[in-house]
Amino acid sequence: MHVLRCASCDLLLHKVPVAKGFSARCPDCGSRVVKNSTLSLSGELAIAIAAFILFFPAQLLPLVTIDLFGVPLSTSVTSGAVILLDSFPFVGALVIFSTAIAPFAYLLSILLANLALHFHHARSLYYVTYAMKFLRHWVMIDVFLVSLAVAGFKVTEIAELSVGSGLFSFVVLQVLIAVLLSRVSPKKYWDAFSDSSEDVKLSSGATEVDDTVISCKQCGLTQHSENHHCHRCGAKLEKRIYQSIQKTWASLIAATVFVFPANLYPISILLSNGKRFEDTIFSGVASLIKQGMYGIAIIIFTASIIVPVAKIVFLGYILICIQFKVDSGRAQRMKIYRFVQWIGKWSMMDLCVIAIMVSLIDRGNLLDFTPGPGAIAFGLVVVLTMIAAESLDSRLIWDKHEQR
Ligand SMILES: [Zn+2]
Ligand SMILES: [Zn+2]
Repeated sequence: MHVLRCASCDLLLHKVPVAKGFSARCPDCGSRVVKNSTLSLSGELAIAIAAFILFFPAQLLPLVTIDLFGVPLSTSVTSGAVILLDSFPFVGALVIFSTAIAPFAYLLSILLANLALHFHHARSLYYVTYAMKFLRHWVMIDVFLVSLAVAGFKVTEIAELSVGSGLFSFVVLQVLIAVLLSRVSPKKYWDAFSDSSEDVKLSSGATEVDDTVISCKQCGLTQHSENHHCHRCGAKLEKRIYQSIQKTWASLIAATVFVFPANLYPISILLSNGKRFEDTIFSGVASLIKQGMYGIAIIIFTASIIVPVAKIVFLGYILICIQFKVDSGRAQRMKIYRFVQWIGKWSMMDLCVIAIMVSLIDRGNLLDFTPGPGAIAFGLVVVLTMIAAESLDSRLIWDKHEQR
């Protein structure tokens, strides 16, 4: 029989043909193991090229403009973050990376993957699909779009807001990137690179504990485990990510430490007529409630307080269950893990709001907005929890511990 291993839980599965437009899911963890997409690689390429063309007006033209005491001020995607580079280089660089560099590099990786496929160059395809896989978690156009709405509501208190010429391109760019993020996968490129006739066959008596076959984390090919490197893409074959538990604990503990300064130090400082108003995340939410902006208060509270803490608690819970070899509730823990991965980037929202506010509220001593030291700690929490989620090998959640 033809077999393949689920890349998320390592279950050994029979390979079955999948009709166009359908996908096959793993019966244990529910991950999609085979997808026969209706969108071809050339369709993805067309969308990537369209997104590439839109990328420049979306990034360079102003998204919104306000009239602050008679002076028009506008913000583009990175204008605020560029200002931040001076005083808060880490926060500025983080916003620029997630809203400009990562989306650009992600689109570029799709274009280059098509080129590598065209020239049938395995090494290049390895690097670009590696980049593609890493970058997809850092593309935060959607987060920036919601941040823009939040910042917009905040500034309508003090100034008239108008839509800039880049906003339309930016919204369409987000739609195209959302389509790409849901469709593009390294495995699809590798399957196009070499057909799956190289798949391993096992005798029909093989069970899921059979460890003579291993799946490549990079390209998804199931193969005999005596190879040290994948014979399709060349990636190192590991049964589990090397020291996954240790890496996840390390980033999680570091993130937990930074949660305290992130919440105790002011995250934003408003200078108004020479007076200094400092706000921590919590006091910022409280003052939004006082002003009657309940919706935004809930959004900020969720993204900045609930999400980071939930990520730490959930990942900690999964790690403890792995370490204490808890057998029940694996499917539920897998759902929690997916949720943590999905929700990860939304905690960047407050930093994006800060970057937007910095570029919009800039009238020197009259009215000025800067981040506080809490923003650095908060940025570290965001990065560390994302690294923690990525270093956890989901197959560990499914490892069976009973006596064999
Ligand atoms: Zn699975
Ligand atoms: Zn491979």
